[in-house]
Amino acid sequence: MSGAVSTSGPESLDDDISPRFTPRQALAESSRCLFCYDAPCVRACPTGIDIPGFIRRIANGHATGAAHTIMEENIFGGTCARVCPTEVLCEEKCVMNEGEQRPISIGRLQRFATDALMEEAAATKAPHPFTRAPSTGKKVAVVGAGPASLSAAHRLAMLGHEVAVFEAKPKAGGLNEYGIAAYKMVNDFARKEAKFILGIGGIKIHYGKALGRGVKLHELSVKYDAVFIGVGLGNTRDLSIAGEQLKGVGDAVDFIERLRQRKTLGAPKVGKRVVVIGGGNTAIDAAIQSKLLGADEVVMAYRRGPEQMSATGYEQQLAKSSGVVVRDWLAPKKIKGPSKGKDAGKVTAVEFVRTKLDAKGKLVETKETVTIACDMVLKAVGQTMIEETLAGLELKNGKIAVNKDFATSLKGIFAGGDCVKSGEDLTVQAVQDGKLAAHAIDRFLKG
Ligand code: SF4
Repeated sequence: MSGAVSTSGPESLDDDISPRFTPRQALAESSRCLFCYDAPCVRACPTGIDIPGFIRRIANGHATGAAHTIMEENIFGGTCARVCPTEVLCEEKCVMNEGEQRPISIGRLQRFATDALMEEAAATKAPHPFTRAPSTGKKVAVVGAGPASLSAAHRLAMLGHEVAVFEAKPKAGGLNEYGIAAYKMVNDFARKEAKFILGIGGIKIHYGKALGRGVKLHELSVKYDAVFIGVGLGNTRDLSIAGEQLKGVGDAVDFIERLRQRKTLGAPKVGKRVVVIGGGNTAIDAAIQSKLLGADEVVMAYRRGPEQMSATGYEQQLAKSSGVVVRDWLAPKKIKGPSKGKDAGKVTAVEFVRTKLDAKGKLVETKETVTIACDMVLKAVGQTMIEETLAGLELKNGKIAVNKDFATSLKGIFAGGDCVKSGEDLTVQAVQDGKLAAHAIDRFLKG
């Protein structure tokens, strides 16, 4: 039995690329664990899950107990089991690597356990596995319903506070629901997980309410005892080059969102020759899904080299084995399209300039240009905050400035997740931010 995740690409939009272990496989894999003291895998987990502890419980035949151990630290253990880059976090640090053995498949064991608990909870209508402390009488507003916000909301509810969540979209889950390729989160998992998390009680969600559109920050700060902002990021960055307005040029984030909601909205159209610009997970997800939707040729172009991509080596391999052509060291310069004829106003090619690192390691452009013909361009070059909705809050590097307790410059207003981070935008880090911020808010409310 191989516990390793397959690097062959998905065969359809809803293919489960890392299927759940059978009970036999989970037992065999958990029995390989050495249950290390001061385990390095735990230190590599941003949420500090007791990994040997939960694996031991699986080995003892107690999958739901294992899930409880996971979710004590990470209520989004189910999502993180699916989307965490475990190959560069816990599994990379597993001591089995030192003996040149395959690391323990921590992610897949985590999925086995969390699926068992969530399915049991849905089937038996048993009380939520986490109970709430007696009511504190305090009310907290949470803005956004993605991983950081729901992690904060769940922990605040556990601590006995009443939570009101304000979410712009019609469903909870944030990126889990709208921004991750379907083959990583099959079977409507994001919706089921959000329902499970909210099952603790004490959390009310108000949909269709975005900051600046239906709800204002200063009103929340007056009406509630504390506020947590976990709005993620906003618009996709522009490339700021000619031709961006041409027909066929769009945002990878919007493309993925439409794909995720295709059962109600219909699938987005895909071109025959697609160029995806960017080097992160969004670029990989958009490129693979373009291929699965029927594009003949998909090129993912990145302005630096494979080592600098924020997509991990595993993700890059997944793209290549799905038929995506990854071209490094190409910076977009111009998007081309004719002004006359049958293709007037439509994209027909992207012109890139080849880049390289100079002697000081700085990215520089060469004189060599490369033109790639296409009829669709998807931009995946990062997102920016929508700053006008955050009036009054101090910002740093375009994100909300917070201290070590996730407190913003305004008293009683806290923030966490992608809207405060300047580094990697990992789901697991957002979940940890939400959890820690909830404890900081609890301390604030207790004076
Ligand atoms: Fe088990 Fe590997 Fe963690 Fe040790 S480092 S506890 S072997 S998963």
